[in-house]
Amino acid sequence: MIHFVGAGPGAPDLITMRGAELLRKADCIIYAGSLVNPALLALAKEGCSIYNSAEMTLEQVLDVMRAKENAGLETVRLHTGDASIYGAIREQMDSLDRWGIAYDDTPGVSSFCGAAAALHAEYTLPGISQTVIITRMAGRTPVPEAETLEKLASHGASMVIFLSAGMLPAVQDALLRGNYTEQTPAALVYKATWPEEKVVRCTLGTLAKCGTEYHITKTALILVGDFLRPDSYDRSKLYDPGFTTEFRKGRPE
Ligand code: SAH
Repeated sequence: MIHFVGAGPGAPDLITMRGAELLRKADCIIYAGSLVNPALLALAKEGCSIYNSAEMTLEQVLDVMRAKENAGLETVRLHTGDASIYGAIREQMDSLDRWGIAYDDTPGVSSFCGAAAALHAEYTLPGISQTVIITRMAGRTPVPEAETLEKLASHGASMVIFLSAGMLPAVQDALLRGNYTEQTPAALVYKATWPEEKVVRCTLGTLAKCGTEYHITKTALILVGDFLRPDSYDRSKLYDPGFTTEFRKGRPE
């Protein structure tokens, strides 16, 4: 059987218990070597065969999966963060479906959660934004026309931009054409949860400049929105003494 596993954002102890157990039992591990922390491979049992998918094509990955399956072995396909975000898992699953090979999928902590933790941030601050937009800037890989950064920025929602730290001037321009201003808070989080993590807080007007100053060009997330401004939000209704919920009766003011 094939087990897709989310490795988490970097720190090896941020994999789930289920993911770690699958790694311990695996006969074969195919890991995304560009971003998965190799420290996780220490969980592999003796004799486990290990492949780095960063150096492989989809066809080569599938060939390994099929060969291991035919030999009755267990394979873990280890993706960075959570595999549902830019993980290219669908194309693997579709091929496995065609061949009748069984698989399951164990979620992981995505880097956008790791970045929020590093910033002590809450994306969904009452009175500020109740929406998180996860996206990327078009580069060598296209983005649908309806989802350009400029269009998405028109919402003024909390935004997390993947795969775009190498294009900061263009990201900044596109966001400024939407509903953000030069003063909108922004942040760059490089290698969230890794020992070499860097957290840079700035404004949208200084985003590209800060990227240059802190030498951040890859393996980083760009976060934008007023959720990063610590002083302006409403308190939650859920924990408000005057608000009745299913579990707690509110006191009259
Ligand atoms: N599936 C992954 C994303 C893979 S796409 C996830 O859920 O996190 C690769 C991009 O993710 C990188 O270019 C970078 O933008 C972001 N990324 C992955 N790990 C990161 C980390 N630890 N810190 C900051 N950004 C990270």
